[in-house]
Amino acid sequence: MQTLIFATNNKNKVEEIRAVLNDEFEIKSLQEAGINIDIPEPYDTLEENATEKSTCIYQLKRQDCFSEDTGLEVAALNGAPGAKSARYAGEEGDSQKNIHKLLTNLIGIENRAAQFKTVISLMLEGKEYQFKGICKGTIAHEIKGKSGFGYDPVFIPEGSHLHFGEMTLDEKNKYSHRKKATALLIKFLKEYHG
Ligand code: IMP
Repeated sequence: MQTLIFATNNKNKVEEIRAVLNDEFEIKSLQEAGINIDIPEPYDTLEENATEKSTCIYQLKRQDCFSEDTGLEVAALNGAPGAKSARYAGEEGDSQKNIHKLLTNLIGIENRAAQFKTVISLMLEGKEYQFKGICKGTIAHEIKGKSGFGYDPVFIPEGSHLHFGEMTLDEKNKYSHRKKATALLIKFLKEYHG
């Protein structure tokens, strides 16, 4: 079994990715790997932030690892909040405040089209590889559901009438940006190791 460090402290992300990994791969969160740091996300793109996180952990541990950075891109807001999704309403990464700001900025706007984009950065034997996943959908007018995290209570993926916040983990993973990027990661790892 191959073990990879997943450069995150976000338990929801770990849970979502574990749900799609098979027995061939084991992941360890930063906490489980004994790494106690909060890696900064200083850049304006998901790609650069993902690279920053995986490189930081690789330099620290010299072990195979991956990171992911996700953003919500809203068409009517010219792609905002994008790479700044976690800090949309301030530095704290407060999801309730972020959702409130998003819904406020969309008042009176008919075009609610949005997408989640995930970029995974894998550091394997010292070399970086990236994988992307997109989930298209719309921003709802109201908050629904208690599942998931972040913007899940206001996001309705294309092909469903439910908000992500109303879905079980398995249901969310039928549509999820993170699931799509993870599937590409798994395919790559399987091919790499033959
Ligand atoms: P980051 O990838 O941890 O920087 O997350 C960026 C922001 O998007 C945070 O506010 C997260 O809560 C939010 N976010 C990331 N992934 C998801 C998701 O799958 N659903 C809803 N919100 C998410």
